[in-house]
Amino acid sequence: MTESAVEDQTTRLPDQSASPTLSVRDLVVRFEIEKNWVTAVGGVSFDVFPGEVLGIVGESGSGKSVTAMSALRLIPQPPGEIAGGQVLYRESSDAEPIDVLQLPYDELRRVRGNEIAMIFQEPMTALNPVFTVGMQVREAVLVHEKVDRAEANRRAAEMLTRVGIPDAEKRLSDYPHQFSGGMRQRVMIAMALVCQPKILVADEPTTALDVTTQAQILELMAEMQGRDESIVLITHDLAVVAERCDRVVVMYGGKVQEVGTARDLFHHPKHPYTKGLLASLPAVGAKKGERLHAIPGNVPSITQLPVGCKFCTRCEEVMDRCHTEEPPLHVLDDGREVRCHLFEDEAK
Ligand code: SF4
Repeated sequence: MTESAVEDQTTRLPDQSASPTLSVRDLVVRFEIEKNWVTAVGGVSFDVFPGEVLGIVGESGSGKSVTAMSALRLIPQPPGEIAGGQVLYRESSDAEPIDVLQLPYDELRRVRGNEIAMIFQEPMTALNPVFTVGMQVREAVLVHEKVDRAEANRRAAEMLTRVGIPDAEKRLSDYPHQFSGGMRQRVMIAMALVCQPKILVADEPTTALDVTTQAQILELMAEMQGRDESIVLITHDLAVVAERCDRVVVMYGGKVQEVGTARDLFHHPKHPYTKGLLASLPAVGAKKGERLHAIPGNVPSITQLPVGCKFCTRCEEVMDRCHTEEPPLHVLDDGREVRCHLFEDEAK
């Protein structure tokens, strides 16, 4: 991560006076584990504005992937259950929002893929090993658009070329295992983008890739993003967030802990968890043998979340009340949102 990477964010901040394309409101998701219901996502809200790259960050187990999967109704139900909230999607700036959580299944199929597409960390979970890549990209077109097979094939080859698959037309008849990890990720991006969705939700899209391929894939996603199209980038990698995101939602214990622009968050983190995450990044110019700061302890299991502040078992600034009283998400004067008692007096 470089200073300039974060500085650059100021030049492409989204227009927050525009209506958000997606608004997640008080999303609650729970799972039945050994006959007990446990809450994995406890009332999460955030907006995605046209043209922005929104990062959702947090350690594994913070609830970021469950939030994204639930917003698209992709969690297995049962054992999961979307127990409350709304996921409001606007097809255009003047359209009335529709609640994705309430859509009948055929309407949901149209929105998912056509309007909001998702790519995953491991492409083999999304690509079917027994069908050719061409067939899978073509199917994505045929499901969502009224075109014939020949046109769908042409679109598939064109999209594979755009994502950098050499000899795309010939490779349409190859199977996923005949592609490298990076190339499979490109195929998945092609499948996700072939119907030109307004929002691309990318869940750890580069975690399984080497750094060079990682940079190429992130560059590709940026190139493919149109002016009004948005990306929700879910990652635990803060360097990726600094390079690519306009705004950032920090999650822990199934709750939003801090929201702000990438620039604000990286230069002036407020929540003790955000500070801990940033302090654990390797610094350029660190001395040999210098130890990285680590947040003490581990992310608690969702069955053992504290009743008060979800971060209280690991926070280095913890106070007595933090163990019993969960802080609200305070909205500060500069628009930052922070869920921490330390900011009670600064809240609007
Ligand atoms: Fe730490 Fe308390 Fe703030 Fe939670 S509310 S982050 S425990 S100071």
